[in-house]
Amino acid sequence: MKLCPALSIVAVCALSLVLVGCPARPPASSSAPALTTTAATSRAETAEQLFVEGKLALGEGKYEQAERALREALRQRPDRLEARLLLGRCAYAQRQYEQAEAAFREVVAGHPRSAAGWLGLGEAYEGLKRPTEALPAYQAALTLDPQSEAARQGVLRLGQIKRIAITIDDGPSLAYTLKAMDEAEKYGGRVTFFVTGRWAVKEAQIVRRMARRGHQVGNHTWDHADLTKLSADKARDQLARTSDLIVKQGGPQPAFFRPPYGAHNATVDRLAAELGMKLTMWDLDPADWNAAHSGEQTVQYILTRARPDTVVLMHQVHNTYTVLERIFRGLHDAGYMCVRLDELGRCPEKMGG
Ligand SMILES: [Zn+2]
Repeated sequence: MKLCPALSIVAVCALSLVLVGCPARPPASSSAPALTTTAATSRAETAEQLFVEGKLALGEGKYEQAERALREALRQRPDRLEARLLLGRCAYAQRQYEQAEAAFREVVAGHPRSAAGWLGLGEAYEGLKRPTEALPAYQAALTLDPQSEAARQGVLRLGQIKRIAITIDDGPSLAYTLKAMDEAEKYGGRVTFFVTGRWAVKEAQIVRRMARRGHQVGNHTWDHADLTKLSADKARDQLARTSDLIVKQGGPQPAFFRPPYGAHNATVDRLAAELGMKLTMWDLDPADWNAAHSGEQTVQYILTRARPDTVVLMHQVHNTYTVLERIFRGLHDAGYMCVRLDELGRCPEKMGG
């Protein structure tokens, strides 16, 4: 393929610069090794320039230009994984799903651990309306990169996968929250944290980290108050202050509210609704808040009673902290994906279902 004129100029300029920039350039006749090195350097730079040009053109929606540059970059540097990925992206953006499939197939053939390659392949298959092939590609992408939201959404969209929502109340506390997110994400899972303002205010970064990693942040009042024992004004203040703090700390406006002790009445329900939040109870309560319960009991309770589309109540307590890894692994092994409340499709309004 021919270089476009502008690029030829760039390439020539780059070559000239290399040559001119070499102060002690020996006569051409006696410098075969030096020339070979210079030519190789120049070729590498040209491939890099072509790659950058292709990337920029793709970003601007100039697909033909992008494709030309990326193909030429690949001709010069067939091992350039990113160029091949972008070529697939370029075809996908133009709804040329067969070409996209071919490009991403080449990526994963050469780089079987490329999560982006498997994700692209899944999307290409989905574009070709071949969901049975798309699903394993998305699953491979998610296994390689459990934080890939796009791969996760692909699995949820196509999979007949069972969903379950793990909700964790109280806190947040840094160590527990990070561990819960890490363990859930190992299997592409997400968690809903019901945080109290009183604790969130002490951990300025944690709400932002929860949100950035795709977990859900819900409102659990300012200081774990029983709202049914407060005046409407005070109850409103408990909810509004907490939601305001969550937003101030980089979270989204909370869409879910869990009343401490499960205590609510018509006034509390109305206040939550006025603040844009859904009252959220639970289906399964392993009673991990009870210090007499061991972590082992919590694991057994959850794994033996888990059902599709249910909401599990857990707390930031030490016994549960020690078994987080087993809970998320056990649910994964039983065929569940842990999803956020807004992905569950239902929201229990009573304790125990
Ligand atoms: Zn609580």
